[in-house]
Amino acid sequence: MNQTTLIFHGGLRTIGGTIVSLQYGEDRVIFDFGLVYNPQTNILDAQIKLRESAKTRDYLTLAMIPHIDGIYSKASLPKSSSLIPANQFPGETAVLISHLHLDHIGGMGLIDPSIPIYMSKDSYNLYQTLALIGEGVDGDRTYESCEYNQAFFVGNIKVTPLQVDHDIPGACGFHIETPDGAILYTGDLRLHGSHPERVESFITNAKALGFDVLIMEGTTLRSEDELPEELLVASTDFPKTLITENTIPTLFTELLQDKKGIGIFNIYHRNVDRIAGVIQAGRLLNRKVVLEIGTAQIASDFLPDETFYIYESEMLRQRQANNKLENWQTRLLAAFPIISAEEINNNSHEYLVQNSYDQSLELFDLHTEGGLYLHADGVPLGDYDPAFHNLERILNLIGLPKAFVGTGGHATPQHLQYILEKLDPNVLIPLHSFHPERLKPKRGKQLLPQYGKTYLLQRGDLIE
Ligand SMILES: [Zn+2]
Ligand SMILES: [Zn+2]
Repeated sequence: MNQTTLIFHGGLRTIGGTIVSLQYGEDRVIFDFGLVYNPQTNILDAQIKLRESAKTRDYLTLAMIPHIDGIYSKASLPKSSSLIPANQFPGETAVLISHLHLDHIGGMGLIDPSIPIYMSKDSYNLYQTLALIGEGVDGDRTYESCEYNQAFFVGNIKVTPLQVDHDIPGACGFHIETPDGAILYTGDLRLHGSHPERVESFITNAKALGFDVLIMEGTTLRSEDELPEELLVASTDFPKTLITENTIPTLFTELLQDKKGIGIFNIYHRNVDRIAGVIQAGRLLNRKVVLEIGTAQIASDFLPDETFYIYESEMLRQRQANNKLENWQTRLLAAFPIISAEEINNNSHEYLVQNSYDQSLELFDLHTEGGLYLHADGVPLGDYDPAFHNLERILNLIGLPKAFVGTGGHATPQHLQYILEKLDPNVLIPLHSFHPERLKPKRGKQLLPQYGKTYLLQRGDLIE
């Protein structure tokens, strides 16, 4: 008799790297396939050269990707590996991707091309742009797109993608059903983004489909010292201290309106809502928005009605001079005006200029007197990252003050509790969190699984 089993391979007590496999008979879905980012413990620092053709076996040795049968090609596995290669594995396997953050996709390119990898149409489109500008993941393979609310089958497993809101387009959760029951995976989500109605629809649609087990992210949960129990009550309120995606343009405006110099901003450009917010801030401030060329490509593809300038970095200038522009860069430069540091310096108070951390040296060409650096969730994100202190050294060197204007992509503890109580599962599995145990359902049971253990979905329950 066929049974439905769940195995957890990653992400139970880390932020990201969620990898869960659900199997029914010989059919299997594996959801998300990211890498955990921890600059403090990563063995692969910037100095160790990666071995492109040996990546799968190196990552397996470093436990950066999971030891799972039937997903890696024979050639990519270590010779001594006891893992079953993809082509010798019975049944059908598919990988589901909730959204395009590296902690959810970082390893997906290493999966054997015979295994389909599904992502929402919006994610698929964004991925095409990311690949174009050189930000695709490693590996040479194709991806499949799926539609929100439209079920598809992996063997006898029924999968329905359900859209959520997160700080990246295309984010979705998955409703996954077998004859034994159904689970709901939230992916990453928030209520304080530009589209909270998507989370409400997610809840409504998931409840209409029905499910037994909820697998939910809990990124913002903290220890009892940092987050007292009374703050973990369900609420949809937005406390005054909570910055939302929609208030970012106003905050930019407040910080820059009296400034006599340049506005510099650092964002993570996969957050297209944030690009739109910065462009809106530019309008409110009557400052021209200048984007790095990669960000300009994303804006051109996903915010087609917006106008902006493209920053002429030293690298772009050299490429242009040597006829080494890539085709997408040539197309973009034909469609949008390019502007140099010298031109910006003539009237620096009229500009809002993007500068990502890897482009920090460009700051040396810009007049920054009287200006402000707005850190708006670009990398490096916080002082857990050694690069964060380096960024501070650079800004100190040029005497540019810094302000934080950002907001995370993850629901606040109160919002998590609200979503949980609305969904009201029989079994809750909180993960993608340093403190998953803090999220407790009102009615059903909380299960904190162990890695590698097999759990059985049976009669609306998950048992060991
Ligand atoms: Zn994540
Ligand atoms: Zn995410």
